[in-house]
Amino acid sequence: MSYLDSLNEVQRQAVTEIDGPVLIVAGPGSGKTRVLTYRIAHLIHSGIAPWEILSLTFTNKAAKEMKSRIASVVGNKADKIWAGTFHSVFARILRFEAEKIGFPSSFSIYDTQDSQSLISTIVKEMNLDGKIYSSSAIRSRISSAKSKLITPKAYSTMEDLIAADRLAGRPRVHQIYQKYVNRCATAGAMDFDDLLLQLFRLFYQNPDNVLEKYQKKFKHVLVDEFQDTNHLQYAILKKLMDYRLADGKKDPYTPRNITVVGDDAQSIYAFRGATIDNILDFEKDYKPFGIKVFKLEQNYRSTAHIVQAANEVISNNEKQIPKKIWSHKGAGRKIQLIRTVDDGNEGRRVADLILEQKTRYHLSNSDIAILYRTNAQSRIFEEHLRRQNLNYKIFGGISFYQRKEVKDLTAYLRLVVNPKDEEALKRVINYPKRGIGPGTIAKIAATAAQIGTHFYAAIPHTKLPARASKTLGEFVKMINAFRSKQSELDAFELASMVARKTKMIDLLKADHSPEGQSRQENITALLDGIKEFTESDELFDEDVITDDKSLASFLQSIALYSDQDEEEEDGEFITLMSVHAAKGLEFRSVFVVGLEEDLFPSFMAKNDLNGMDEERRLFYVAITRAEEFLVLTYSERRFRFGKLKYPTPSPFLSEISEDHLDSYAPVVKRREPTINEAPITSGVQGNFSRVQRVMPTLMADPSTFRPSPTSELKVGMKVLHLKFGKGEIILIDGSEGNQVATIRFDQIGDVEKRIMLKFAKLQIL
Ligand code: ATP
Ligand code: MG
Repeated sequence: MSYLDSLNEVQRQAVTEIDGPVLIVAGPGSGKTRVLTYRIAHLIHSGIAPWEILSLTFTNKAAKEMKSRIASVVGNKADKIWAGTFHSVFARILRFEAEKIGFPSSFSIYDTQDSQSLISTIVKEMNLDGKIYSSSAIRSRISSAKSKLITPKAYSTMEDLIAADRLAGRPRVHQIYQKYVNRCATAGAMDFDDLLLQLFRLFYQNPDNVLEKYQKKFKHVLVDEFQDTNHLQYAILKKLMDYRLADGKKDPYTPRNITVVGDDAQSIYAFRGATIDNILDFEKDYKPFGIKVFKLEQNYRSTAHIVQAANEVISNNEKQIPKKIWSHKGAGRKIQLIRTVDDGNEGRRVADLILEQKTRYHLSNSDIAILYRTNAQSRIFEEHLRRQNLNYKIFGGISFYQRKEVKDLTAYLRLVVNPKDEEALKRVINYPKRGIGPGTIAKIAATAAQIGTHFYAAIPHTKLPARASKTLGEFVKMINAFRSKQSELDAFELASMVARKTKMIDLLKADHSPEGQSRQENITALLDGIKEFTESDELFDEDVITDDKSLASFLQSIALYSDQDEEEEDGEFITLMSVHAAKGLEFRSVFVVGLEEDLFPSFMAKNDLNGMDEERRLFYVAITRAEEFLVLTYSERRFRFGKLKYPTPSPFLSEISEDHLDSYAPVVKRREPTINEAPITSGVQGNFSRVQRVMPTLMADPSTFRPSPTSELKVGMKVLHLKFGKGEIILIDGSEGNQVATIRFDQIGDVEKRIMLKFAKLQIL
């Protein structure tokens, strides 16, 4: 069977039209990612070399998955495709070209923590108030400037930026920005934004010897989740497609082989500078080159209730590219909407429902995801999943490479490959403890500034007390010794030596606590990772760029790993992640939790003109992850920021019509309800009426209702339920402890309900 057979007509066209620009703007689950994957397979099948294909995805993990799918069509050639995130692919190119823009090829990559630490240092050196000039706020100002291609010099002349900073009480941001850029350059370091910015600069400044090489190399460029690209990313893509003739004019003949797919309604990174204008611009920019636009309208992922509810929600956003999307998977189940008394109860209800879905519908853990707006919400679900012995994995915690001991060792390694790296040096200059305090560090910094060099080089020139001077002398000698071994030892041998000779290993071994044990294991795991890297041939490229197994290359690749990229450990787990992280994924069953005003939508949305629209797109992304089961929960009370709050349900809930909601869903109820219990404790908003209506009225009188012990419940008994009224138990099944009663209730139209016995509140009649 040909791989083309598993595509619909339009998808097939989008896959097989090889030459020229292609744009696909289509709704969730319509097969955009599938088209991209098959298109790459088809290109290779048609004779394009894998290393001539550049595929840009949202996570490295997505790239890996894509490669393995492609491999199932074209075999292991798929490994040689240039696939990854913008950042990781660009870091790879920069590594080969860095010297052309004044960076060492072993440049360091500063992660967010490094950037903020450097900003704090600068703020301190400028004698500014660290509370007003908070490192995270400054970092995001700088990041936003960089993603708009605004240099420090340009920044200082832009009145609106300066005015905004002044208004925020931070008139000196532009000076910090300038110092920050200088300091990164001195340290031979690039932050995340630099990986884009410096690449742009590289292409811009070297049109003939660099840009042209990559234009020729990448015969096909493909981008998934195009709606979340920022201005700078688009500018780079345009450079890659900007062929010139000898007279400098745009070359109209060479086909622009660029394919982008996305969904404007799923754009969720506006706060980071992503702009859906890119989609509109793309269509305009590539019109002269015969752009082909494909529309995919069939949703293959979700059942109709889910698709229609999603359509209803997103129709409340004004600015959108109109598109149709339908499902032919059948109506499917309605969406369950569940109100809980508090966040603890929310955790328990979700865990209970998961158990129920697993027993009743045979879902496995990997079919299930819990999605939340903020990572802080995960704790309560963790607690209840653990209590029910359900295996889960949280994405969005600290990634492996961010753990302290791992960062400590990688800081040493960074220093070995790039001694200019100021942040790495500061991290290990007194670890293991060698009596070097902040005073000494400040003195070295002053010397470095004075003689205009980097931190490491300034050490021997700094006047220090004899003891500190001796200790640092030994430190420098040790690092230099490691450096001299670089050509002799491979990355793994070198890293092992560093771990040993710095006494890091001894230090961890001396700690017999379980934490100490696990830190030691993490170091071993890091070393194993380096070994695997030196032995793998994944990065092999038969074209311009050759295999690179150096320590520097390893360090650059791990700097860009996020927890989303982490290898999945064995075993089957329920996925817990933020909605942002769930982009592009799909699960048979999805729980979107914490649907309350100021949580989802976030309270931060109010401060922003387009904030609500972005939150709504986020909600849209969340619900469209579900294939068959969708549960939405909100709570009447919740602890937030250490205070008990009584939130109003999310306004988004009222945007879903009753037709798609299962009003009888909340079968499990632990608290004794009161008569006429309003679904919302306080602040019932008019626009929430629809959610209110779906709450069932009680069919029994709570004041006389007395639930019987569940152990006494037997098949054939007549029972009373608070909400469903009278009924008869017609079946009890399920495993010990997880037994489920099937009950036929009279009042609700002879409907059978399945209720887990341990949660059932039933009164034997
Ligand atoms: P999102 O916008 O959420 O990223 P998408 O448009 O990228 O969604 P895909 O993930 O490519 O959608 O596809 C959704 C699901 O539908 C996948 O499981 C995919 O394999 C399946 N699918 C897509 N097209 C077809 C088809 N023609 N036949 C069968 N299944 C398909
Ligand atoms: Mg996709």
